[in-house]
Amino acid sequence: MAGLLIGPGWGIHRVMNGYEGNAVMSASLFLTPPTTNESVRAGMEALHRRLQQEVSNSGLNSGAVFPAPEGSGDVRQLTLCAGTRTATVRGMETKALDLLKELTEAHAVPGHEDEVREIFARELGEAGELSTDRNGSVICDAGGDGPRVMVAGHMDEVGFMVQNITPSGFLQFVTLGGWWSHSLLSQRVEVKTRRGDKILGVVSSVPPHFLSEAQRNQVLGVEQMFIDVGAESRDQAMREFGISLGDPVAPVSEFTPMAREDWFMAKAFDNRVGMAGAIQCGQLTAGGQRGNRLLLAGTVQEEMGLRGARSAAFLAKPDAVVVLEGPPADDTPGFPLSDCQGRLGGGVQIRFFDSSAIGNPRFARFAEQVARDEGIPYQVTVRRKGGTDAGSFHLANEGIPCVVLGVPARYIHSHNAIIDLNDHLHMVALAAALVRRLDQAAVDSLTNYL
Ligand SMILES: [Zn+2]
Repeated sequence: MAGLLIGPGWGIHRVMNGYEGNAVMSASLFLTPPTTNESVRAGMEALHRRLQQEVSNSGLNSGAVFPAPEGSGDVRQLTLCAGTRTATVRGMETKALDLLKELTEAHAVPGHEDEVREIFARELGEAGELSTDRNGSVICDAGGDGPRVMVAGHMDEVGFMVQNITPSGFLQFVTLGGWWSHSLLSQRVEVKTRRGDKILGVVSSVPPHFLSEAQRNQVLGVEQMFIDVGAESRDQAMREFGISLGDPVAPVSEFTPMAREDWFMAKAFDNRVGMAGAIQCGQLTAGGQRGNRLLLAGTVQEEMGLRGARSAAFLAKPDAVVVLEGPPADDTPGFPLSDCQGRLGGGVQIRFFDSSAIGNPRFARFAEQVARDEGIPYQVTVRRKGGTDAGSFHLANEGIPCVVLGVPARYIHSHNAIIDLNDHLHMVALAAALVRRLDQAAVDSLTNYL
């Protein structure tokens, strides 16, 4: 049985350093042997709930449980950081909402990132000099002396491409990026034509009425689906609507506030949170004090296998990269809360590992330390699968140290993902804090192996 006891360090104190208006609480769980994984888990969940309760009683509006390196043996500790909004954060919030709406509603599937690149260029044109590599990744060089520090997000979202138009006017398609076909049927999409028109359609298939029992119990492959744009023939789809083979197709979904404060639903939070984050981080830090040359980047074709980051790294030659992402949350039914590494409202994720990259451990721990120093809620993630642009950046040039920060989003790679805006603001705050601190000594220390 796990005994639950609130430890002597219990209480709220203001963080003296940095991220104003935040408070930290901690509590300890004392375990009575013999302990089992189950009893530890149950105890930690109870402690977690208790801390959450304290946060809501205190009137603070966001909380995150920090992992506790000191917790071991029969004592486990949880520390919780909760934030009130300061004027600065409120300013960031308005800008974040404007950017997230515009960016998530943009049409930018892999290889066709123009609309997001235009927003990036408009927002960061004043902050530095813009250039692109030959695949279309865009870089804003904000200048400064010292190591080349890059903050990068990928501009693309998962989508589709017109593969064929049937004689009766239906569009067959291929996927760009990872889709689970369960989430596709009946969803609205837009075909972007060469003329720049957006043609509305819906993903369809043979209706269930015409399927056998066995067929109805299977997941339908995308090759059995089609997009209905309302054309009566191939000729009408092509001549009148202007649709061609190879046209990009994106999901349609409006950026929408939910009943719960600060929660929003939209498509493409993967990775428009990263793009909004890179833009905001640039706007916050480009003109300020820092000991580095700051590069902001939007890469192309991440969803097709981390492709754009390779040529972007070759062009921009960063010495360190902060990758901003919108990775999947794991706080839905089917995941035990105590094992959760991507909880909405749990703070910015700092990713130590996934199947594409072992994060530079010094960089990840540095990010963790900066988050603690500044009182920014964060959650550590070690992912069994998945990948980010860090998978390409860390292998580019002579090897580039990377850290991956993320805003956990439920149901990514679908038409309707959900985020907690506070996690986004915490990611921007942490990225900006890293930019301010990554001077020559800090960057050297990441790769100083001898
Ligand atoms: Zn992504």
